[in-house]
Amino acid sequence: MIVLVINAGSSSVKFTCFDLKGAPQVLAGGLIERIGIEGTAMKYTNAKGDVVKGEVPVKDAQEAVRLIAQRLVDPQVGVLKALGEVKAIGHRVVHGGESITDPVLIDAKVKATIRDCFSIAPLHNPPNLTGIEACEAVFPGVPNVGVFDTAFHSTMPPSSYLYALPYDLYTEHKIRRYGFHGTSHAFVSRKAAEILGRKPADCKVIVCHLGNGGSVSAVSGGKCLDTSMGLTPLEGLIMGTRCGDIDPAIVWNVMKIKKLDLDGIDAFLNKKSGLLGMGGVNSSDLRDIEAGAQSGNQQCVQAMEAYAYRVKKYIGAYLATLGGADAVAFTAGVGENSASMRALILKGLDGIGLKLDLAKNQERSDQARFVSTADSPIKIAVIPTDEEREIATQTLAVVNRGR
Ligand code: AMP
Repeated sequence: MIVLVINAGSSSVKFTCFDLKGAPQVLAGGLIERIGIEGTAMKYTNAKGDVVKGEVPVKDAQEAVRLIAQRLVDPQVGVLKALGEVKAIGHRVVHGGESITDPVLIDAKVKATIRDCFSIAPLHNPPNLTGIEACEAVFPGVPNVGVFDTAFHSTMPPSSYLYALPYDLYTEHKIRRYGFHGTSHAFVSRKAAEILGRKPADCKVIVCHLGNGGSVSAVSGGKCLDTSMGLTPLEGLIMGTRCGDIDPAIVWNVMKIKKLDLDGIDAFLNKKSGLLGMGGVNSSDLRDIEAGAQSGNQQCVQAMEAYAYRVKKYIGAYLATLGGADAVAFTAGVGENSASMRALILKGLDGIGLKLDLAKNQERSDQARFVSTADSPIKIAVIPTDEEREIATQTLAVVNRGR
């Protein structure tokens, strides 16, 4: 069973082609970036190790999907005999609002819901929908499935998702916490249960998804009870370029100081803040901040400590939400790779049951593993996330259910 996974952004389309006959296998994957801009480039890799890279003229998402389709059946580097082998296409969609709580087969109603969320996800939902429509044109008759970043968090209770604002903002305008990175939180919390040797239904897990964007979630019995991102991905942790939690009054103060309009403050908090704004080394990449800190740059030291402290606060809060936990799991670019950031976050938490094994924490591996001491009451796990695989698996489940 061949499933194609598409992640369509504002100027890029990422793709992964899976064979899901047995254990999921990646047949090919890659990326087309700078779509519609000068210097559009494509990278395509297949499981045999062939790599095709180079500039290609691609003006929009439909051309991009057409090119991906051509590569997949290319006599030299292709992995399929015919496009008819593709049984379903799974799409990463960021915002599904309140009504979409599971992966769904895309129809006119689902597309209308994606469109309804344009105003709260203006950077993501429009290109996600364009990607879906491109696939409908290039792969006619093939079912498209939407796997929504917000869906996993739909189990949050009102005490987690309501903001302390006049209630009509929720009832009339759907202003509430939604949460994001749901596909990763779902995959990692399930994997944590697996390595604990327990059923997800019997586990309490705190998932720290620390990448360029970052969010923490509290998962009990496989269901999300709270998460740090909010109406949009801006809330919560300190991220690469996003500020995370701030006093809302900072918004109008900064607008006055920097003479910004609404779009200006939106870009300022989403694109110029976080590690990029705090670190002072003109980079949102934690590796650069770590290098700065190692060479004695105090601004970098402070940025790392503030980043770690924010994660620590959420771990503490979610231990209270869950009434204790079986595991705290780290994932994504920072969570999987930065042993020093994990150590900084967990420093001083032995007393509440999180005992990091410093030697294990330093070991590198692409496998899900524990980095806590054998007697740690709460296990600490590092779990490589695989959102594409999760989207493919969920897509297959939806298509099979529809039969
Ligand atoms: P992601 O969004 O999950 O792809 O994560 C990307 C981010 O992970 C980058 O911006 C880096 O800040 C961070 N990252 C990746 N590798 C490392 C590493 N070895 N050490 C520290 N941070 C890393």
